[in-house]
Amino acid sequence: MRQVDALVLGAGMVGVSVAWHLQKRGMATLLLDRRGAMEETSFGNAGLIQREGVVPYGFPQDLVSLMRIAGNRAIDAVYHWAALPRIAGFLLRYRRNSRPHVHAQIARSYAPLIERCVEEHDAIALAADCSHLIRRGGWIRAFRSTEARDAALGEAESWRREFGVAYRALDAAALAAAEPHLAPVMCGALHWTEPATVPDPHALGLGYLAHFERMGGIFAQGDATTLCEAGGHWRVATAAGPVSAPRAVVALGPWADAVTRGLGYELPLMVKRGYHMHFGARGGASLNHPVLDSERGYCLVPTPRGVRLTTGAEFALRDAPPTPVQLARAEPLAREWFPLDKRLDAAPWKGARPCTPDMLPIIGPAPRHRGLWFAFGHAHHGLTLGPVTGRLIGEMIAGEDTCVDAQPFRADRF
Ligand SMILES: Cc1cc2nc3c(=O)[nH]c(=O)nc-3n(C[C@H](O)[C@H](O)[C@H](O)COP(=O)(O)OP(=O)(O)OC[C@H]3O[C@@H](n4cnc5c(N)ncnc54)[C@H](O)[C@@H]3O)c2cc1C
Repeated sequence: MRQVDALVLGAGMVGVSVAWHLQKRGMATLLLDRRGAMEETSFGNAGLIQREGVVPYGFPQDLVSLMRIAGNRAIDAVYHWAALPRIAGFLLRYRRNSRPHVHAQIARSYAPLIERCVEEHDAIALAADCSHLIRRGGWIRAFRSTEARDAALGEAESWRREFGVAYRALDAAALAAAEPHLAPVMCGALHWTEPATVPDPHALGLGYLAHFERMGGIFAQGDATTLCEAGGHWRVATAAGPVSAPRAVVALGPWADAVTRGLGYELPLMVKRGYHMHFGARGGASLNHPVLDSERGYCLVPTPRGVRLTTGAEFALRDAPPTPVQLARAEPLAREWFPLDKRLDAAPWKGARPCTPDMLPIIGPAPRHRGLWFAFGHAHHGLTLGPVTGRLIGEMIAGEDTCVDAQPFRADRF
């Protein structure tokens, strides 16, 4: 049987980054996926490396927002009635953790991870010779009403003071100067200047993977649910036969529970699904930045394939059939805002953000199994946090000092 130093299960942005960091530290690493790398959630996101995202997305607390979402006609958040009995407990915990004083404490644990997101991407991208796939210049959150704009600017200012996040306030004229092809339907915007953006997250992940392989790492296909412990080692079946290692990292994103549950862990995981569709642009129109229609809750992102429209949160069971109603509701509004041309994809793409009820990812040792590590649950920020997660896992496994305090992310908090 083939022996390596480490197995990494799941080749999304998180698993690829973990595998890169382990191989970089001299551990012979095998990265496993049942598909090609970067073909699930990490494939089709909005491509934002969210340096501003220090406060994770909470559950609405005010009655107006709750009533709006309860009506199930919104664009930013919808739910499947049939899923409610299974996810109600999770939602209650999520809502409790979103109360202002708890949420603020969570943000203080989360911010140190977020603060490193751009530099940790840059470090891998530089080594992997794919810095050209990461763009500078940030992204823009635009507002239809002055009330929403002023509230967001107030919040941005408090994040600047507490977390050092940088932004520019744009009035309608400044927004038009930054994005000349947007129709003047917004009263202003918040320009987050420090985030980086990735027009093609799939290509970036494949670039990181190619460098992992050049360093001697192995990418193999196989089913992670074959993972078992035998004689103090972890063994998994791959297309090229069984492989064993003294340590294994579960980085299966929304599918993590397929492995962890079999090992006796009942972790509170749920998904917020999301969709995308690409469009052509009429008359040679283009976007200089990703732009968010903040009060409606969809993004328009310039990508090599066309303008990518991405949607907000759909609370549904992970494997329920696709119901891209948010895309259908957002498209007419997006067409009023930007001269979208025809749809370019045969069907909407669907992804599933892997979520925990305290909005923090699970990064660290498995509580009851030696040599087993967890790296999943990154919710809205898995592209953002893949590289810093890889670094943390690499440091913990190698017994190095960690770049941020990893205590808040341990699985044994549940
Ligand atoms: C519409 C949308 C927009 C988003 N925008 C952003 C954004 O702008 N910025 C950001 O940071 N994040 C964004 N996200 C979130 C981000 O995409 C996710 O957090 C991230 O992709 C999760 O990465 P992951 O590696 O944990 O999971 P995945 O990318 O899903 O990887 C998990 C891997 O596990 C594999 N796998 C599953 N089961 C098995 C098995 N049994 N055996 C072997 N392999 C298996 C899968 O094939 C997959 O490759 C967005 C998400 C959506 C849906």
